[in-house]
Amino acid sequence: MVRETGFYDILGVKPKASLDEIKKAYRKLALKYHPDKNSSEGEKFKLISQAYEVLSDPKKRDLYDNGGEQAIKEGGMGGGNFSSPMDIFNMFFGGGGRMQREKRGKNVVHQLGVTLEEMYNGTTRKLGLQKNVICEKCDGYGGKKGALEKCSNCKGRGVQIQVQQIGPGMIQQIQSMCPDCQGQGESFSSKDRCKNCNGHKVERKKKILEVHIDKGMKDGQKITFHGEGDQEPGLEPGDVFIVLDQKEHPVFQRQGDNLVMKMEIKLVEALCGFKKTIHTLDDRMLIITSLAGQVVKHNDIKCVQNEGMPLYRDASERGQLIIQFVVEFPEKGWLPEDMLPQLEALLPPRDELMITDDMEEVDLSDVDLNSQRRSYSTEAYEEDDSPRGGVQCQTQ
Ligand SMILES: [Zn+2]
Ligand SMILES: [Zn+2]
Repeated sequence: MVRETGFYDILGVKPKASLDEIKKAYRKLALKYHPDKNSSEGEKFKLISQAYEVLSDPKKRDLYDNGGEQAIKEGGMGGGNFSSPMDIFNMFFGGGGRMQREKRGKNVVHQLGVTLEEMYNGTTRKLGLQKNVICEKCDGYGGKKGALEKCSNCKGRGVQIQVQQIGPGMIQQIQSMCPDCQGQGESFSSKDRCKNCNGHKVERKKKILEVHIDKGMKDGQKITFHGEGDQEPGLEPGDVFIVLDQKEHPVFQRQGDNLVMKMEIKLVEALCGFKKTIHTLDDRMLIITSLAGQVVKHNDIKCVQNEGMPLYRDASERGQLIIQFVVEFPEKGWLPEDMLPQLEALLPPRDELMITDDMEEVDLSDVDLNSQRRSYSTEAYEEDDSPRGGVQCQTQ
């Protein structure tokens, strides 16, 4: 059976992705396509949510990996019902349960891109947000006090009913909220309506939030501003969540509290020792030394204690700085051939090889990656029978 990867593709992760990678991908996409930000992408938001619901649950993921979406529909989700995308979103970002949301306004989640330097040193960022606040002019009443009239559109019921013919002799009644009075059953006549908010009781205002990014904060960490969500008359405002999104750094990668970097060294440095500098995230210069007589091998890993990320809420402590060495070998022709015996005399001796008559001598050539790829794809498509390049040994 062909293995499906559709859910992985939707989240943009590899089928071998870890749970952390899946969470991170969901976090980014869900914030990007949330209907509050992108009202035309509701379908995409739903797909992201469904993919996340399956892949974040080890049992469902296993079922999907083995039997695809069909298996999920048949057994994994109790009749193939996915949870509502909003419930998944609120669960992920901690937006509170349904009960809570009825008495409180909506929570809002924003993503804030931050650099590794900002997480290392700490900083304050100002973030300008548009939000609904109770109208100052009418105190959230919507118009002149006592001037509310029964809504003429819905006759005070707050709902309107549409009748649709859906088949011979069959009609369907669709009940929806009255758009004129927003389901209130009452509205102001145009002369009594508040001019500032046009009867909406709230107005859009810009609010600046100061986001304190403390030393050692992590990618995905949530900073909560209680009660800074949209205001609505009669409701306690919801919270604003700022989710930190760490930008890639050209040198350092973060692994927990450690920083990881690659460092290129020349062959002479690998064999004969070296001094190298490292520019830290707080603009200091470190010098590391490998003494003469030490040998650093390709891919060797060393560390500097206490030069990693500061620990969150304990910034005097830091993790490790982990350095992976990449040894650069000299190019062809760096040493005249007649000098090679002198070099060889200095190097550890090579192993002697016993050659016997029953051995076969073959050519060693460079690998052409393009022809290698083609020889793989011919297995799948069988449409290319042109002679293959020097990597035929790849296929059996
Ligand atoms: Zn109405
Ligand atoms: Zn008003």
